[in-house]
Amino acid sequence: MDINPSSLDFTGYTPTWCAGCGNWGIGKGIELALKKQQLSPDRVIMLFDIGCSGNMNDFINAYAMHTLHGRALATAVGVKIANHKLPVLVTGGDGALYGEGGNHFLHACRGNHDLTVIVHDNSVYGLTTGQVSPTASKGKKSRSTPSGIIEQPVNPLLLALTQGATFVAQGFTAQLPQLAELITAGMQHKGLSIINVLQPCVTFNKENTYAYYIKNTYKLPEDHDKSNFSQALEQAQSVFKERFPLGILYETTRPTYQDELPQLASEALAERGRFEKSVSLLDNFK
Ligand code: SF4
Repeated sequence: MDINPSSLDFTGYTPTWCAGCGNWGIGKGIELALKKQQLSPDRVIMLFDIGCSGNMNDFINAYAMHTLHGRALATAVGVKIANHKLPVLVTGGDGALYGEGGNHFLHACRGNHDLTVIVHDNSVYGLTTGQVSPTASKGKKSRSTPSGIIEQPVNPLLLALTQGATFVAQGFTAQLPQLAELITAGMQHKGLSIINVLQPCVTFNKENTYAYYIKNTYKLPEDHDKSNFSQALEQAQSVFKERFPLGILYETTRPTYQDELPQLASEALAERGRFEKSVSLLDNFK
C-alpha cells in the first residue's frame, strides 16, 4: 500500500476553536505523531467524545467516530476488539473522560485495552460555556458553581496509575515537540496509554492560563525511572502542590485485554469473511 503522509493534513475545513485555544496544539501534536509513524489515513481510527475537542472529528482526515458524551472509550474498546490490528486513538476533555466517562476510564485501565487516550484537560466544559469539570480546583467559581466548587479535583495521573494504566504521561499543549513525542510513544506502547494534556481554555478559564502552566510545569528529573511505580506516584502527587510534571511518568508491560482473547489469536475479527464462514458452517450439515 502506498503511504501518503501529506494526506493526513487537516482537511481544509476551518475549526471552530477559539483563537489561542489549546486544542490547536493538541490537534497539531496528533498530526505530527501520525506523520512521524508514516500512518496512512486508512490505518488508524480516532474516537472523539462530545466537547470542544470533539470538533476535531470534522477536520482530521482519518477514519473517525464522534460518540455520545462519555462513551468514546467504551466505543473504542469495541472497535479494538473488532480489529485489534488498527491503532485506536481516543480524545476527549477531562469532563468526558474523568466525569461522564469516568466509569469507562477505570475499566479501560484495569483491562489494559490497547488504546491511546489523549485527554484535553482544561478544567471546564468549554462547549457549554464554562461550567467546572472534574480537574477544576476546589473553590473555583463558575456558572454552575457561583459559590465555588465543593469537591476536590480529580488527579488524572494518580487515577490512571492506581487503576492499572500501563503508560501514563503528561504534556502541555504549548510544548508541541514534546507533546508529539508523547503521543507517538503512547501509540507505540502496547496496552492502555493515557496522555493527560494541560490545555488552556482561553475563553472560559482565566486561572489555568498559558502563563500559569509555564510557571507551574516542570520536566521530569533526568534520573526519573519510568519503570519505577513508586517514583511515578511521587511525581503524580506534586499536582496537589500545583506543580505539573511533563513527560512519561510510568511505563510497564502486561498482557492486554486483546492478548487474553483466544478468539483474536489468528486474525482480526474484521478480517474474517462472512461468506466463507457461512459456507464452512453449511459444510457441517453435509
Ligand atoms: Fe477552546 Fe475554550 Fe474556546 Fe472551547 S471554549 S474552543 S476549549 S478556548
